Amino acid sequence: MTNNPRTTNAPGPLAPNYHPLEVELATAEGAMVTDTSGREYLDCLAGYSALNFGHRHPHLVRAAKDQLDRLTLTSRAVSHEHLERFAGAVTELTGTEMLLPMNTGAEAVETAIKTARKWGYEAKGVPADRAEIIVADGAFHGRTTTIISASTDPAAREGFGPYTPGFVVVPYGDAASVRAAITPDTVAVLLEPVQGENGVIIPPEGYLEQVRAACDETNTLLVLDEIQSGLGRTGATLTQELFGVRADLTTLGKALGGGIVPVSAVVGRADVLGVMTAGTHGSTFGGNPLACAVGIAVTELLATGEFEARARDLGPRLEGPAKDLVADGLATDARVIGLWMGLDVVSLSGREVSERLAAEGILAKETHDNTIRFAPPLTVTESDLDRLMDTLGRVLRSAR
Ligand code: PLP
Repeated sequence: MTNNPRTTNAPGPLAPNYHPLEVELATAEGAMVTDTSGREYLDCLAGYSALNFGHRHPHLVRAAKDQLDRLTLTSRAVSHEHLERFAGAVTELTGTEMLLPMNTGAEAVETAIKTARKWGYEAKGVPADRAEIIVADGAFHGRTTTIISASTDPAAREGFGPYTPGFVVVPYGDAASVRAAITPDTVAVLLEPVQGENGVIIPPEGYLEQVRAACDETNTLLVLDEIQSGLGRTGATLTQELFGVRADLTTLGKALGGGIVPVSAVVGRADVLGVMTAGTHGSTFGGNPLACAVGIAVTELLATGEFEARARDLGPRLEGPAKDLVADGLATDARVIGLWMGLDVVSLSGREVSERLAAEGILAKETHDNTIRFAPPLTVTESDLDRLMDTLGRVLRSAR
């Protein structure tokens, strides 16, 4: 770790809304990053899964550079040559009918919430201003005022009231409680198919299918937030495919921008997204030419199936050793799906483990006190993963 004063958590001109590791990065390629002192690290954070294809993937960098030389921003007052192509490429990749482009993940979730409410009033006949959306305990969908109104995480929520009404929170993984919470005013159930920030929480078998059935029976939209779980991370283009479920609306973000520019979108049913008519919603930067050029290049990478296959094939390389850590009493639980792992550690806090891993040249970060999430780029090698798990075992054993 560097001792560069700019990377310390001392007060300065930067608002203290993060508690980063004391690592200041300068360059990166693939799964490796280098700090300002020239020290290399294996990146097991991958920009919270925004870097699924690794740092500076040549296909994505080429698409961005070509576009920088042509046209970068139009606003939606006019169109450009990539906008419809981007919508076509993402809907084809995800087997959906329509796309609404935005920039950040939180904006995509806001868009899905607004769409579901408007659909509820116009198509379902919910009385004005009564729409309810069911969300799950422990969920993370972003940081806007409306989204944190649906959050159960005190750190994300407290001090930011008054809150936006219209959310009903139920336990994650319990389909019966979703069904019981549905009322005639319910317009949508909004869930992560696997909860990322909560520590890679994989729902019990049958959960998403049963929620889908409850939504079908009550004319309620199923909205799946795949901003972190989607685009290859779990071994499928969308995680919902692994559960055999199709959402009415799906939010995408992070990796859709290839780690180059913020690109997000809502994809789904045309009759639902179609309620967002001209003037009702928008964004100056949403669907801009640079974003679309990179987004199209991302769909080209995913369409080969290569990245999804890597996540599927390499996952066991994490899972086997992680189960051993649990068996050895060094962790209380390990959850692995594709190249995504949540580990609940003992003896050390998640922060301490992250700091010790950084000292060993591996970047990972705690999500909660004792939970660390690992999400290496899908370009990571087998030997990189072996090094991660060996180092992790050593760090945990040294603290016993
Ligand atoms: N939804 C999920 C599932 C996320 O994991 C995140 C970010 O971690 C978001 C939404 C918010 O995305 P952003 O930080 O781009 O606003």
